[in-house]
Amino acid sequence: MQYSDRILNTPSSFIRNILKVTDASDVISFAGGLPNPISFPLDAIQTSIDRAMKEHGAKLFQYSSTQGYLPLRQYIADKYNRKHGLDISPDDILLTTGSQQALELLAKVLVNKGDGIIIEKPGYLGAIQAFTLSEPTFYPVTLEEDGINLEELEKALQQPNVKMIYTVPNFQNPTGLTYSLEKRKQVYELVSRHDVVLIEDDPYGELRFEGEDLPYIGAGKLENSVLLGSFSKTVTPGMRLGFVITKNKELLTHIETAKQATDLHTNIFAQYVIYDYLANNDFDKHVEKIIDLYKTQSDAMLQAMEKYFPAHVSYTKPQGGMFIWATLNNGQSALDVFQKAMDKNVAFVPGDPFYTDPKGVSTMRLNYTNSTPEMIEEGIKRLASIF
Ligand code: PMP
Repeated sequence: MQYSDRILNTPSSFIRNILKVTDASDVISFAGGLPNPISFPLDAIQTSIDRAMKEHGAKLFQYSSTQGYLPLRQYIADKYNRKHGLDISPDDILLTTGSQQALELLAKVLVNKGDGIIIEKPGYLGAIQAFTLSEPTFYPVTLEEDGINLEELEKALQQPNVKMIYTVPNFQNPTGLTYSLEKRKQVYELVSRHDVVLIEDDPYGELRFEGEDLPYIGAGKLENSVLLGSFSKTVTPGMRLGFVITKNKELLTHIETAKQATDLHTNIFAQYVIYDYLANNDFDKHVEKIIDLYKTQSDAMLQAMEKYFPAHVSYTKPQGGMFIWATLNNGQSALDVFQKAMDKNVAFVPGDPFYTDPKGVSTMRLNYTNSTPEMIEEGIKRLASIF
């Protein structure tokens, strides 16, 4: 059988593959990127399922609009206007099957084979995978402590047919890094001089356990701004509910057309249930609980790293989200360390899949949201013994 270049050039998810190995019950796994299941509001969702079914009956099970359930879009618009000073209406929002789908749709709508996509280096591997299906040329730009490197960004913007810049401004996956206020302003200045779409993918922004919320780079200001959000990290990932926000009507119409072709619409049962949940519960209080939990886990990992890691291993100190990124400054390959770590029943994700041009990198992603503080200390101790 002859397959398309599109699929042959797209890597299968490294993480999904290694999770098969790391999911064994005796492994201390820092490899996943899963929210902690104790953060799922199960009882409240059960109530919402019952209530939504009683109130709306067959509508929960019928085909529905591509753009998504209006009350949910209204809820999102109100919240982003209130919290982030945006000026959006439900018409500026399209509900997607997770924000993951938005990434694939955006590339489909904007990118011809060979067109440029600027992406953080390292960057979210699910975005690399979703974009690769459109056969782009990637222009990776180094992600530093305070955000993307400006000189590299300026150079990348000079490349031919660059269509979009993909950023995760808050608690980035995989590094946990957050763009500073200054860097946000500088990126805005630079991008506003180019005809390019700026994507801000923000599934973790609400999970801040330190510091102050910062304004978006382009959302609310830039004509070609796209902001992505998701209920995966704050309510449930399994319902697969995310959203695109853009005031660029033409772009949103094209995304809607692409979505029609892909899946007609996002699961409408999930849309009714999540809306009912949001409308009838104290969401902020719920998110506070997740933040407290993740702060405890992040603190436990950072303290263990401080105590056990040798001096040649550096690591990020996240202000929120789910990940810490470690760098082995002696050049040791993270893949080698991964094999040795599995022998000691501890897992993480070697940095390689987060680069569009990996070469035996010395970086690694550590997730802290799925282990107790005791397991975290033990796992970090075992890793340190390998370094
Ligand atoms: N963007 C980023 C940066 C992510 O980390 C993830 C999930 N790991 C997604 C998008 C996709 O999330 P979802 O499709 O569940 O909304």
